[in-house]
Amino acid sequence: MAIVEHSMTRPSEIVRSLDAERKRWLIAAVADSVIAHVDELTALDAAIGDGDHGHNMKRGFEAVLLDLDTLSRMELPDLLRTVGTTLVMKVGGASGPLYGTLFLALGKALSDEPSRGEAATAFAAAIAAVRARGKSDAGQKTMLDVLIPSCQAFSAGGDLTAVKKVAALAAEATAPMRATRGRASFLGERSIGHMDPGARSSSLMIAALCDEWGEA
Ligand code: ADP
Ligand code: MG
Repeated sequence: MAIVEHSMTRPSEIVRSLDAERKRWLIAAVADSVIAHVDELTALDAAIGDGDHGHNMKRGFEAVLLDLDTLSRMELPDLLRTVGTTLVMKVGGASGPLYGTLFLALGKALSDEPSRGEAATAFAAAIAAVRARGKSDAGQKTMLDVLIPSCQAFSAGGDLTAVKKVAALAAEATAPMRATRGRASFLGERSIGHMDPGARSSSLMIAALCDEWGEA
C-alpha cells in the first residue's frame, strides 16, 4: 500500500495510491462495519421509524461484498457507480435511493486517483445530490446531519481522526433534534431523544473509511 508522495506536492495534495488491494480493503471496511452494527441500526430505527434500517443496510452491503473482486479491479468512478446502483437496488426504504445517490454522485465527480481537494469537492457535490433527491437539508434529523459537518471538516483540512470524531459527535447530536424529514417526522415531538439511524449509519461508514485510509 504505497503512499504516493511527490517532493513538490503540498501536504494536502498527497494521496495514497488506490491500487486494487487498497480498494478491496476500503470497500470491505465500510461494508463490514455497517453489517456488524445491524442490531444497533435496527434498534435506532425501531425507536423512531419502522425498524428496517439495519437489515436494509446489511442486505445492501452484503450484495456489495459479493462483488468485491470485480469492484476492487474497477477504476474509482466505475466502482462507486456500481456500489451506488447496488445500494439503490438492494437497500430499499428511503435510505437506499439516498445512499445510492451519494455513491453515484461520488462516482461522477471523482477521478481514479483523486487529490484531497478533488475528494472534498466530490463529497460536497454528492451531498448536494442527496439533498436534492431527499428534498432535505441540515437540521432535519437525517443522514445529512452527519454528512454535511463531516464534509466541512474534511474540506477544512482536518486530519481523518478529526473527521471521524466530527461524524460521531454529529450523529449523537441528532438525538435532541425533532425530525422533519423521513419516517421519523411522523412522530413529531416523539422523535426527540433518539439518534437518527441514517445519521448513525453515515457516521459508521465515515469512521470505517477514515480508519482504513489511515492504516499504514
Ligand atoms: P425507511 O425510513 O423508508 O424505513 P430506512 O429506515 O432504511 O428507510 O432509512 C431511514 C433513514 O433515512 C433516516 O434515519 C434518515 O437518516 C434517512 N432519510 C429518510 N428520509 C430522508 C430524506 N428525505 N433526506 C435525507 N435522509 C433521509
Ligand atoms: Mg426504516
